[in-house]
Amino acid sequence: MPTSQLNIQAQSGKQYIYSFAGGSADGDASMKNLLGGKGANLAEMANIGLPVPPGFTISTEVCTYLYDKGKSYPEGLFDKDIPEALKKVETELGKRFGDPDDPLLLSVRSGARASMPGMMDTILNLGLNEKTVEGLAEKSGNPRFAWDCYRRFIQMYGDVVLGLRPADSKHIDPFEEILEKWKNALGVRLDTELDAGDLREIVNAYKAAIREHTGKPFPEDPHEQLRGAIGAVFESWNNERAIVYRKLNHIPGYWGTACNVQAMVFGNMGEASGTGVAFTRDAASGENVFYGEYLMNAQGEDVVAGTRTPLKIARLEKENPDIYRQLDDIRTRLEQHYRDMMDIEFTIENGKLFMLQCRVGKRTGLAAIRIAYDMCMEGLIDEKEALRRIEPEQLNQLLRPVFDLGEKQAAIDRGRLLATGLNAGPGAATGNFYFTAAAAEDARNRGEQVILVRIETSPEDIKGMSLAEGILTERGGMTSHAALVARQMGKVCVAGCGSLQIDYKKGELRIEGKDIVLKEGDALSLDGATGEVIAGEIRTRNSEVIAVLADETLAPEDAPVWKIFDQFMRWSDKYRTLQVRANADQPDQAELAVRLGGEGIGLCRTEHMFFGGDRIDAMREMILADDATGRRLALEKLLPYQREDFYGLFRAMGSRPVTIRLLDPPLHEFLPQENSEIEELAGKIGKPFGEVKKRIENLHEFNPMLGLRGCRLGIIHPEIPAMQVRAIIEAACCIKKDGHDIVPEIMVPLVSTVRELEITSEIIHKIARRVMAEQETGVQYLVGTMIEVPRAAITSDEIAKAADFFSYGTNDLTQMGLGMSRDDSGQFLPAYHNYDIFDRNPFESIDIDGIGRLLKLSAKEGREVKKNLKLGICGEHGGDPASIEFCYKIGLNYVSCSPFRIPVAKLAAARCALM
Ligand code: PEP
Ligand code: MG
Repeated sequence: MPTSQLNIQAQSGKQYIYSFAGGSADGDASMKNLLGGKGANLAEMANIGLPVPPGFTISTEVCTYLYDKGKSYPEGLFDKDIPEALKKVETELGKRFGDPDDPLLLSVRSGARASMPGMMDTILNLGLNEKTVEGLAEKSGNPRFAWDCYRRFIQMYGDVVLGLRPADSKHIDPFEEILEKWKNALGVRLDTELDAGDLREIVNAYKAAIREHTGKPFPEDPHEQLRGAIGAVFESWNNERAIVYRKLNHIPGYWGTACNVQAMVFGNMGEASGTGVAFTRDAASGENVFYGEYLMNAQGEDVVAGTRTPLKIARLEKENPDIYRQLDDIRTRLEQHYRDMMDIEFTIENGKLFMLQCRVGKRTGLAAIRIAYDMCMEGLIDEKEALRRIEPEQLNQLLRPVFDLGEKQAAIDRGRLLATGLNAGPGAATGNFYFTAAAAEDARNRGEQVILVRIETSPEDIKGMSLAEGILTERGGMTSHAALVARQMGKVCVAGCGSLQIDYKKGELRIEGKDIVLKEGDALSLDGATGEVIAGEIRTRNSEVIAVLADETLAPEDAPVWKIFDQFMRWSDKYRTLQVRANADQPDQAELAVRLGGEGIGLCRTEHMFFGGDRIDAMREMILADDATGRRLALEKLLPYQREDFYGLFRAMGSRPVTIRLLDPPLHEFLPQENSEIEELAGKIGKPFGEVKKRIENLHEFNPMLGLRGCRLGIIHPEIPAMQVRAIIEAACCIKKDGHDIVPEIMVPLVSTVRELEITSEIIHKIARRVMAEQETGVQYLVGTMIEVPRAAITSDEIAKAADFFSYGTNDLTQMGLGMSRDDSGQFLPAYHNYDIFDRNPFESIDIDGIGRLLKLSAKEGREVKKNLKLGICGEHGGDPASIEFCYKIGLNYVSCSPFRIPVAKLAAARCALM
């Protein structure tokens, strides 16, 4: 803590007040916890010699003291410390607080550690009364200005301190009511048309309203005003708005706010005065240009209120080159000092520039990346800092298709927002909606862009999903089938949109509580980043980065954003130790994964391979076969497809590792449900309709997630893994004969006991040996298991003995560990969030205290048995930055995520290594 002479000690010996004035301050930017963001940066600006109006910050500890001690203040605060701090301000400016001839006026503002824009209270022009207003009028030579200041002050004070604020937006502010009445009586429309005499009358009317409401006159004593304002600012920490905002933004209530008391400067003193806000670089694009707006003869609120259109900062260069030069110089100094893009507020009072605020500026993902890159190139920060500056999720913005923002807003303004669901797959999609994969396919063939709308999706819908621009479901959470498949395919997805009422039969989509009926084929737009569902079309385009990766039209050198993106990926690769693989099951997904920098496939869900062309028929024939012989015959039809699939994957991945999971889902997921489809299938496989329907009904499971699935399938029907292993090893032999080496990693799903793994491994080894003998080729392969059942996690020491690797299936592990269905949790998780039961959706970000413990224990015990046991994660959490950090800490070798998440995962992994 700096030991400036300005230190003021409360009688208790503790410092509660931190002054700033004339090139020095008690505090600095590192003291946000004590001084709040605003106070700490005011101190910092004063320290580096920027023109800051003098003042003092009352620390957040006073706020917490006030709440802890039942509304009492630290001893000596108001009778010693504040008067002393005020004296310094008076000395600095040569003005006195309450002086009737030339009064010092103050602003009193809140300012917490984290920015809480507009949530707490502020009072300006404090110190005005019947006498000082005359002094201000005299001194400024502008009575209208003085009376307008006084009017605004009484209104703010009345609202904030004396409680004349309207109860809610339905009620009218009593002061606005008075003002309107006066304007009507005078026949004027704008406040600026009121003269000093009118304003004086309005002030009297305001005061009468206050007396009527409070039973007391408006306080004339500036010191009483100051005490009231400070109290109100501290109390505003616990107003309803602030509490709700804190909850939403995870800001703890015990932080408290600081209170900044500062000399007023006026931007509304005449044409040589003005006020503005600016960013030291463009906060939307990140371009290195000074970006901001200002208004002459105005106060801060006029710039934001929108009653007058502010001017672009470039205009100031022409209108007032001297002030512009000073401001531009401050811009450079701030950036050099903070080494970041800053957001500033300034006021010009009679041709003199003052800085009122600065803070690190909020920015879009694109701007964050560009600014970090440029600052690194400019030598302001190094590449490690550049990596630390970007939240991994921000990279997403560079990958997703984008809506024309103006068009989207216009659509919402016109009432076209239908509903909001879970933002399960980011990006923007627009097209005509259809309820079935078949209808979507037909529409695609007619050249339409389509959105697939389903109550929920199943593997059967894969084809339709791959053809759709976006997927919308009524049911299902973040790891529902729709959501994870959509992310893997890079599709936009809004899931669990409970207010949809889908009527497949009528082909109608209704929205609960709205008088709207949409028909299949109508246009719909989905914003996968916000979960918004909007009626009608909104234009979209490929992001620049994806355009380059897809070899669209841009050459890398014509794509500046791509160049920056690519550099960040290189930096990430340089520092990270955690490997990043992709969840992919089609050669095109594998190719994309490689282009995005994937270092292998961490999960190939083989069930997704059975849906193209005629495969589904052979699959269904296999499922409905009467005995093992019938199943074998059907499996023989599937074998060439599987072999071809694996060959394609191996080729796309080169020598990178590929983890293939044996068939996992319950078989009924592959079967048709509609009578017409069942009839068609019966015809194809030559069985009577009634028999097929009965078999399908028999296969129905009440809790399919816990039924005949995973390794259980292979134990009951060993011919299924036998076919899959044959296809894998045959494909690996082919690749080897092509001159490449590949080490397939065969993964057994849903294991809960080591015995299950041992039995399945025996089948795998037997078939692998047989195929290698037939092919006269030796290939290396690994056999490992998913750890996705709690019993497997807590018996990892046993299971490790039979496994070459573990891959954490955190989707099922979360489902089973919490006893919470991954598909239905959307119904109650939002309410859970309100109750603070989970910080984040546990299907999106690992529940570190619970499921995380299982992972940690499993990793430790597994490695105790096998030192070099390869450990990875392939649940959806593998693409979530917070979960990646956890995986890094418990020593996993890799994370695996959908191809489009690879850049995010790489950056997150690099940041872990730089922590
Ligand atoms: C998992 O359970 O985490 C997993 C990757 O498997 P799936 O999502 O296919 O059940
Ligand atoms: Mg699973």
